[in-house]
Amino acid sequence: MSTAAHDGQQDRHKVVIVGGGFGGVQAAKALKGADVDITIVDRTNHHLFQPLLYQVATGILSPGLIAPALRRVLKKQRNVRTLLAEVGEIDLEAKVVQAAAPDGQRIDLPYDTLVVAAGATHAYFGHPEWAEHAPGMKTIEDARLLRSRILGAYELAEVAGDQAEQQAWMTFVVVGAGPTGVELAGQLSELARHVLPREYRAIDTRSARIILLDAAPAVLPPFAKKLQKYTRKTLEQKGIEVRLNTMATGMDADSITVKGPNGEERITARTKVWAAGVQASPLAELLAKASGSEIDRAGRLSVDPDCSLPGRTDVFAVGDMVSTIDRLPGVAQVAMQQGTYVGKLIAARVKGDDTTPAPFRYFDKGSMATIGAREAVADVRGVKFTGWLGYLMWCYVHVAFLIGWGNRLGTLFNWVRSLRYARYRGHRLISVTASYDRSLDPQDVAVDSAHPHENVEHRPEIDPNATSGTGRRPA
Ligand SMILES: Cc1cc2nc3c(=O)[nH]c(=O)nc-3n(C[C@H](O)[C@H](O)[C@H](O)COP(=O)(O)OP(=O)(O)OC[C@H]3O[C@@H](n4cnc5c(N)ncnc54)[C@H](O)[C@@H]3O)c2cc1C
Repeated sequence: MSTAAHDGQQDRHKVVIVGGGFGGVQAAKALKGADVDITIVDRTNHHLFQPLLYQVATGILSPGLIAPALRRVLKKQRNVRTLLAEVGEIDLEAKVVQAAAPDGQRIDLPYDTLVVAAGATHAYFGHPEWAEHAPGMKTIEDARLLRSRILGAYELAEVAGDQAEQQAWMTFVVVGAGPTGVELAGQLSELARHVLPREYRAIDTRSARIILLDAAPAVLPPFAKKLQKYTRKTLEQKGIEVRLNTMATGMDADSITVKGPNGEERITARTKVWAAGVQASPLAELLAKASGSEIDRAGRLSVDPDCSLPGRTDVFAVGDMVSTIDRLPGVAQVAMQQGTYVGKLIAARVKGDDTTPAPFRYFDKGSMATIGAREAVADVRGVKFTGWLGYLMWCYVHVAFLIGWGNRLGTLFNWVRSLRYARYRGHRLISVTASYDRSLDPQDVAVDSAHPHENVEHRPEIDPNATSGTGRRPA
């Protein structure tokens, strides 16, 4: 066991931040120059820009562009130390955070003030077994796994023995028509209709079936009606089947069963993606139990208006894992603003300011979602934008919030390239170990439908149940 402390500065006020996502990094930055020693601990070594994960999953961006090393993000801030470890326990009485390093070594992190910003993970509405059939997108590993499954599905359609088999591989179902589901479905359509068609010989990728379903009566539920209508129309023009008032009731490796206005239906589809519910980090429940606070149905921890735990002025929680009285949405802006607020509050306290802080107030800068290349919707303080204009605004905001000029320029370059040159996708590497089961059943020798007279000796199978190493970790 080791205790991690900043060298030679044992007496300074110690701030431990759990989570190097949007909330955690902003809290650390707001403490820049403060007379404190900050330890930021994350179980990954990067700061992930989740809003662009779907572009990694569909081959537009490379993972590195949206996930700079956390250590590098904070390297200029001398009062911050970055640790790679997974937090498992928090002792509020002893004021110690317990974490495990990648080699299992236990690390104890004593604190004077604690900020927990551990985010959220997927929720499968009481069906955790669906996770293996319909992975979600929360981590870089998730996005890479999805990329392997999506592109791998076309590879297997190309060598499928008959048309039914081809169609099973070329049917994609996205569960959840919020911004993530809409963006992913839009890109699946771009891939099928514009990027891949000339690359295959046995299949016509344009006949791929893409289904977007949601239990709600509209796509993009939190957006204005006008934008919802525009989005649905644009999705349908892109050949996507939008099924509303429809929910998933079952699934296996080969299919998904849905229940909608016309009753129950089993759809044969090998590739399913989960973009529906989210559940707060288990650290929310742990803190609730330790402090007597409450959690809601999504596992989010109730915090006071200053983001502190009820009755604890030394412990704060921010971002996707908390719920506030005003029921703020689980978006990056909320996490960032709460992180900044808490960081400033701690800096003021360390300076000796013990006045009761003004409650946290969220400044809603608007919401936006892309539907495809050159198509997006945006609602900026009541002013609504669609099409090209919405898309340009979306591009501007997302590039501006990426960390690092290199990543911003690299992302812009990829976007221009993907728009200008036949919707080019430059990052289509499939992870063979994650997606292919190389054990070939000798009975299972397929006839290649592109060359029906030749036997294909080695038909690599994609294991639809393959999961990535850390991606499916229970958060
Ligand atoms: C696919 C997708 C698309 C999105 N699109 C948008 C969008 O367009 N606009 C928008 O505003 N928001 C969007 N969001 C939501 C936004 O990303 C979140 O609201 C935001 O990331 C929340 O920030 P956070 O700091 O609370 O959590 P996160 O950013 O998730 O950070 C949590 C951090 O804690 C770490 N962590 C978790 N548990 C532990 C542990 N036990 N020990 C150590 N470290 C731990 C994680 O590794 C992670 O780095 C999207 C989210 C997803 C998944």
